[in-house]
Amino acid sequence: MKLINRPRRLRTNPTLRMMLTETELNIRDLIYPIFIRHGSGRTPISSMPGIYQLSVKECLRETEKAASSGIPAIILFGIPAKKDPIGVENFSENGIVQQAIRLIKKEIPEVVVITDVCLCEYTDHGHCGILNRGEHFQASFPEGFILNDPTLDILAKVAISHANCGADIVAPSGMMDGMVAAIRSGLDGAGFINTPILSYAVKYASSFYGPFRDAAEGAPKFGNRKSHQMDPANIREAMREAALDVEEGTDMLMVKPALAYLDVIRVVKDAFPEKPMAAYSVSGEYAMIKAASAKGWIDEKKVTLEILTAIKRAGADMIISYHALDAADWLAN
Ligand SMILES: [Zn+2]
Repeated sequence: MKLINRPRRLRTNPTLRMMLTETELNIRDLIYPIFIRHGSGRTPISSMPGIYQLSVKECLRETEKAASSGIPAIILFGIPAKKDPIGVENFSENGIVQQAIRLIKKEIPEVVVITDVCLCEYTDHGHCGILNRGEHFQASFPEGFILNDPTLDILAKVAISHANCGADIVAPSGMMDGMVAAIRSGLDGAGFINTPILSYAVKYASSFYGPFRDAAEGAPKFGNRKSHQMDPANIREAMREAALDVEEGTDMLMVKPALAYLDVIRVVKDAFPEKPMAAYSVSGEYAMIKAASAKGWIDEKKVTLEILTAIKRAGADMIISYHALDAADWLAN
């Protein structure tokens, strides 16, 4: 037999293989998520080994660690002292996220601080918007339905409050219709014309968020998030969501989760190649790797780096990962 085509010729030695690597994961691709709460010290999150709810002081330490390993950005999630129907601490001057932004920007100004902008961690019902009940009740919607437009005003307020404390990027995650437009107009009106928006444009109603809900204490007290987050079976709808956010002026796009949605990352990236894109490797993805590697069933380092590389190969320019600190360490050594 005479074989002309032999792809193995290009895999015969390590240097040659290195020369032909198509996708290179870099430390600068990583964004590290941090949970902050009032009080002091670190509270471990049992479903996410190695990840903690941090006090503002500890958050600064963790951010220093990230910065010194070359990670350019963090994304902050706050756990308020008190929850209420609309989540007042979310836009209060001394809210937990506001305190953390001010301290980080004072001590380590070069770190890019991204803030999550949503209601679910701050509301007593755990939903991403104002609910149709009590003083907000509108007869045209079912009781308990998330009211879209009244929620937009709060999202804009939260974004302005974060920008006011020095946040570099605001990242609305609530999948409310018109959230990007509302936040853009709010920021511009308050003079923050240069604060970029990273929209969670394509966010699925995923079961991979379980451990995060422990971490951020933001699980819905009843019902689910299917009236705003997307059906995992859909991809054409992802194009529509991304297109609308681009029209509304988002600076960057995000797909969440990452691992089970690599095809979605690819089509969104191909449709909007001019928009920098982030993918969020979520808590369930992290927990699965941690659990399997604790049992000795997989190699944590190799599996994590393979998955992060795959997310980048799919089209993500930035990857939000709970493994960011470890990955930075592994990539450096
Ligand atoms: Zn939310």
